[in-house]
Amino acid sequence: MICIAVANQKGGVGKTTSAINLATALAATGKRVLLIDLDPQGNASTGLGIGQAARGISSYHVLVDATPIEQGVVASGIPRLDILPATVDLSGAEIELIELEARTHRLLRAIEECPPRWDIVLIDCPPSLGLLTINAMVAADSLLVPLQCEFFALEGLSQLLSTVERIRARFNPSLSIMGVALTMYDRRNRLTEQVANDVRAVLGRVVFETVIPRNVRLSEAPSHGLPALIYDHRCSGSEAYMALARELIARLPRMNEAAA
Ligand code: ADP
Ligand code: MG
Repeated sequence: MICIAVANQKGGVGKTTSAINLATALAATGKRVLLIDLDPQGNASTGLGIGQAARGISSYHVLVDATPIEQGVVASGIPRLDILPATVDLSGAEIELIELEARTHRLLRAIEECPPRWDIVLIDCPPSLGLLTINAMVAADSLLVPLQCEFFALEGLSQLLSTVERIRARFNPSLSIMGVALTMYDRRNRLTEQVANDVRAVLGRVVFETVIPRNVRLSEAPSHGLPALIYDHRCSGSEAYMALARELIARLPRMNEAAA
């Protein structure tokens, strides 16, 4: 099982949209995928059509009560894609965890104790660098960082990278960054292209070749409780996420070597 956290402490950069659609795309290529919703807003759960009633045991219980992950896992209805949902309780976990033993390692332990039912575990992180995201970074083999193509795209990235350095130094030396994904790319906007070029100049090959276009289908799909890849698999957003999933898979072996 390889564990990838989708992280960026900025809100609205496309973490959840990327987590949902990459999870779906990876499942479509035959991988068994578990999506862990680690954001108290529960957007990944809602976006996969998991209603509140179906969220009995959630990521909150896994983190705070050490409930085994399998007890909370819900089938998404999409073949090979399961989800551990989130509920609003999770907003309190940030504080509750402080008092608990091994507060940074609770998600890692839960994943380690989990039978290897999945090939890939994707974690949708909240927009902060608090204990929830730290648990994700301790548990993860690698990070996928969505970056919105806007003027301040790189702002905040140094804070994210210094958190990654701290996590490497203290808890998880092999944590890698598998890629930076440019999101909400607008071809008609010249600033977007310039931002994308600047980001590539600064970050180099860690940036995925695939860019995710701004596409209204990607933002409509969650209100139907469906990934865009199911809602409209031919829209530009769905095609981009399929391409990103292929690129991600191609990076996996290299990543494993780096981790070894
Ligand atoms: P985050 O999880 O980082 O907060 P989201 O994935 O929830 O970000 O995206 C923020 C908002 O932007 C949502 O309303 C989402 O539907 C929309 N959105 C995300 N990516 C795209 C895109 N490529 N094109 C159009 N809308 C998008
Ligand atoms: Mg989100």
